[in-house]
Amino acid sequence: MSTGLSPSMNTFHQTPEQFRQWGYALVDWIADYQSRVSDLPVFSQVQPGEIRAQLPASPPETGEDFSAVVEDLNRIILPGITHWQSPNFFGFFPANTSGPSILGELVSAGLGAQGMLWATSPACTELETHVLDWMAEMAGLPDRFKSSGTGGGVIQDSASSAVLCALLAARERASGLNTNETGCHGDLTAYTSTQAHSSIEKAVKIAGVGRANLRKIEVDQKYAMEPDLLSKAITEDRQAGRKPFFVSATIGTTSSNAMDPLPAIAEICRREGLWLHVDAAMAGTAGICPEFRVFQAGLELVDSYAFNPHKWMFTNFDCDCFYVADRAALIRSLSILPEYLRNKATESGAVIDYRDWQVPLGRRFRALKLWFVIRHYGVAGLRHHIRHHVSLAQEFARWVRESGDFELLAPAPLNLVCFAPRQGNEFSEELLRRVNASGRVYLTHTQLRGRHTLRLCVGQTHTELEHVRAAWTLLRERAANMKAEAAPA
Ligand SMILES: *Cc1c(COP(=O)(O)O)cnc(C)c1O
Repeated sequence: MSTGLSPSMNTFHQTPEQFRQWGYALVDWIADYQSRVSDLPVFSQVQPGEIRAQLPASPPETGEDFSAVVEDLNRIILPGITHWQSPNFFGFFPANTSGPSILGELVSAGLGAQGMLWATSPACTELETHVLDWMAEMAGLPDRFKSSGTGGGVIQDSASSAVLCALLAARERASGLNTNETGCHGDLTAYTSTQAHSSIEKAVKIAGVGRANLRKIEVDQKYAMEPDLLSKAITEDRQAGRKPFFVSATIGTTSSNAMDPLPAIAEICRREGLWLHVDAAMAGTAGICPEFRVFQAGLELVDSYAFNPHKWMFTNFDCDCFYVADRAALIRSLSILPEYLRNKATESGAVIDYRDWQVPLGRRFRALKLWFVIRHYGVAGLRHHIRHHVSLAQEFARWVRESGDFELLAPAPLNLVCFAPRQGNEFSEELLRRVNASGRVYLTHTQLRGRHTLRLCVGQTHTELEHVRAAWTLLRERAANMKAEAAPA
């Protein structure tokens, strides 16, 4: 069926019937993709420029048949995809998804509603508030983050945006500096650990605080922030006439899943009057299981908290849950009301306008996919799968510990295992290159105390024991080959 101009209809639009046809076809396409993705080479093997070289230099003058588009999706695009949804994907952190999430995304696009104000689509706002309260209950977060108290939650596009908003609220709150009016004067100082995500540094740059004013506090043997060193850095800055205002701690660092000691850090922040943000981008999902909430001790003392269902909670990107204990502080820093957005509901004060809780004005209906996911799995279903992922990673860690050839390079508190072959950095780098080149798995690396470190992160929706076992077998096989090659003939 052609989607081109039909002379009789004098329109270029896809008809509802055509949409239905291609909609069904593409849902089938996605379902087929899901059933065969484990057989595809995980890491895209294309060379730079290879995808663009297959695309026409200029856009089509006349509309094409949609079948040609789908054909090119298969022929050109798919080879250039690294398959994050492969159960053999163990790289970075997961960006997992699920049927209900994809369908929520589809409905959100179908409705195409702008949720910037309560009035621009009340359901967008109210479902979001409600689902974020659910999420707080599910993840065992303190009551102060719920909308019933002084705080509340909002969906951000990413953990990076969440920390930026936290930093802006903290900057505005910092002892009457009124930075929204007068800007920053180079004397504010922020703190995080050497292991914190790069988004903290990016936020400090964007917020006008300046990278030179971000202190990266050293960590202990487990890569967790040293509270004594934090305290010392704050004191030194005060003595130098600076204005400490913000600390970002991490539950589950990107590099090694390290857990900063929240109670001690929170105590320092309380004493010093600093805003404490907690970045739990991936590991926050584990809080759905009560036995993993040990890492959340002290959370009742923090000002803001963020985690990404779009990493490990079967909800496709983008979906970051951002909570603040004092929503007034956040709104004060981000609120803006031009004449063309004035409306009765806003002026009544009875509604939430989420445009005041984020950097952009416009916003998508992201709560829908989260709602679909939670209702499909139920809390028990989510717990089951998270526990399963953790147990698979723990099993892998046990194999590493018991092998003579590999060793663990960091504690593995949840679903990430940091390890390396004993032969050293060059061997480790080459091993990683070879296992990834096989197309059968994808792992990424980090650097821990000078050691090239392999990271195996379990979190893709359909990863099972067989996939983890195959990764381990492959690693050992390739390592054995390399040893054999290096041995004198
Ligand atoms: C992945 C990650 C981030 C960044 O997440 P985005 O949502 O992509 O911004 C931030 N912090 C930690 C600890 C992460 O692991």
